[in-house]
Amino acid sequence: MRLIIMGPPGAGKGTQAAFIAERFGIPAISTGDIFRANVSQGTELGVEAKRYMDAGQYVPDEVTNNMVRSRLAEDDTAPGFLLDGYPRTVAQVHELDSMLEESGRSIDAVVVLTVDQDEVVQRLLQRALEQGRADDTEDVIRTRQQVYADETAPLINVYRERGCLVEIDGMGQVDEVTSRIFDALDTTKG
Ligand code: AMP
Repeated sequence: MRLIIMGPPGAGKGTQAAFIAERFGIPAISTGDIFRANVSQGTELGVEAKRYMDAGQYVPDEVTNNMVRSRLAEDDTAPGFLLDGYPRTVAQVHELDSMLEESGRSIDAVVVLTVDQDEVVQRLLQRALEQGRADDTEDVIRTRQQVYADETAPLINVYRERGCLVEIDGMGQVDEVTSRIFDALDTTKG
């Protein structure tokens, strides 16, 4: 299975990604997690990414694309992978298309979690309390939602037109959402 999971900030992508990855025995590749690991290790990539992340802005496509390209070249992606948080711009979609084409692979399904905006802000503020993420302050959350609406929401139509979009109601208990995703993916696989 080669999958993408999308949704606005706070939709529960990371949580659901872990369950999906476990179920299909594939690595969950979160660009946000890779950036955060680089930030905490103080790498050059981390220093560059942090400026954007703290402001709720996207890290430049070139930096992100190169990072994903090398990650997708690793052996553990042979049985498949789940991309969490990538692609996030139309340019990244095209870059991913060519990365996959070069290695003779393609995406099976794009899972989109749909959520209620107000509920999402509450979730993110809760996460700020629990995990202390620097980009979970209310101002930055608003910026991230706006950036998602402007840059990433248009990708939903791109994948819908390709016929691989799987829209999932992301509201409710975590395990309910997980079941919805599994049911939908089982149907998709046919
Ligand atoms: P996330 O954990 O997916 O919410 O990502 C946290 C932050 O990392 C985002 O707000 C961006 O600053 C950066 N980031 C993660 N993925 C991408 C991407 N595909 N393109 C650009 N920036 C990204």
